[in-house]
Amino acid sequence: MKFDLLIRDGEIVFPGLGVRQGSIGVVRGKIAALLAPGARAEAADVIDARDRWVMPGLIDPHTHIGFGSNETDFETESRSAAIGGVTGLLTFHRSNDLRESTGPWKARGEAQSLIDFGFHFGVTSRLHVETLPECAERFGVTSIKVYLMYKGASGASKGFTEIDDALLYRALLQGARIRGGVVGVHCENVEVIPVFREPLKAAGRNDLRAWDEQSPGFLEAENVFRVVYFGEKAECPVNIVHMSSAESLDIVRRARRPGRAPIHVETCSHYLGLTRDSAIGLLGKVNPPLRPQADVDALWEGVSDGTISTIGSDHVPRKRETKGPDLWKATAGFPGIGALLSVLLHEGVHKRGVPIETIAAATSANVARLYSIPDKGVIAPGMDADLVIVDPDRMTTIDPATQDSFSDYSPYEGMTFRGAAVRTVLRGRVIAADGAVDPAARAAPAGRYLLRPTSTGHRS
Ligand SMILES: [Zn+2]
Repeated sequence: MKFDLLIRDGEIVFPGLGVRQGSIGVVRGKIAALLAPGARAEAADVIDARDRWVMPGLIDPHTHIGFGSNETDFETESRSAAIGGVTGLLTFHRSNDLRESTGPWKARGEAQSLIDFGFHFGVTSRLHVETLPECAERFGVTSIKVYLMYKGASGASKGFTEIDDALLYRALLQGARIRGGVVGVHCENVEVIPVFREPLKAAGRNDLRAWDEQSPGFLEAENVFRVVYFGEKAECPVNIVHMSSAESLDIVRRARRPGRAPIHVETCSHYLGLTRDSAIGLLGKVNPPLRPQADVDALWEGVSDGTISTIGSDHVPRKRETKGPDLWKATAGFPGIGALLSVLLHEGVHKRGVPIETIAAATSANVARLYSIPDKGVIAPGMDADLVIVDPDRMTTIDPATQDSFSDYSPYEGMTFRGAAVRTVLRGRVIAADGAVDPAARAAPAGRYLLRPTSTGHRS
């Protein structure tokens, strides 16, 4: 067999299983064969992967494309992703009427994105709940998100007036009807936050730690309890997205048991690599907040033991000027997709001894399984040849100027991480190498829409 591409003699990372040396042969964008180390094979292109990990391309399950520039985010943020070893992303799509907006938004992604992309639907109204089965089927979307932190006054300021527990419960009932359906929830008890916020503001606090103090971890945990309880009653799989606190994790551990609807947990790279005491000032404002070191350590334990199954970046590509100087008025969220892999390699593999196959599972195989994404996340014949080649020891210092994002800062700027993507391959084509986007990929973005099977299981 002659291959289009041969990735030769790498340390192949099999998510959740282990690492084995060998070569990967690619034909027409698919993995065609796994070969023993040193095996001879003919190929049009060869990448020498000795002493390199070869992992499935990362699929970032949590991004906000369009929060920087609606017009160009798919292009710029997919470049940043490609540089960092990410070959797929899921972004939250919100609008008044999902039936109208999803098609054009998908078309924009198809025109601009260098990597594959798919959607979660943001559910903020009764109309969204009612039209969900239709939209799920039409657009191949199995996942939604409900924003408990936009209840009441906090939601009204953003134009959301229908978010309450009834909307959550209706969404769970609908989610249970969709094949592969999963309801993600932003857990943060926004009704209690003012109890803490008012005295902090009155005291003139303007530091990052105050953002955690106004919404301490137990306010997330309280919402987690109710969401997993409602999920059980509605028989709907739930996903606690961007989990940030140790107490939340304990609640999930206690609530999980055979026979009830699954409880999934996602965390984000910043809850694993930054704390409320990191010297990044208001750049670190995010919802839920960055936490004390003890929470970071507990979340890593959750990643190691599998309680947490997926890790995303919660990428928000706004400009630096929106991040201050007033903590209470600054925007929440920051860019992170380009640094996702390096943060996890540095903090997880090198600092804590987390196996690379565990990182690979949380960033590829588990994401593909949870969100019913076909042909991704595993290195095996027949799967898409979405791969990232990693130098485990390459040191990189995060510089926003080299992230190729619409955003112009990073919460990690100036930090040096050990371990970096050196080649990113999408369906057999190199789309980024050594910290830069491939010129051909830049000129002709070839990302495809991730259509997920819903009711019938097969689509043509
Ligand atoms: Zn959220």
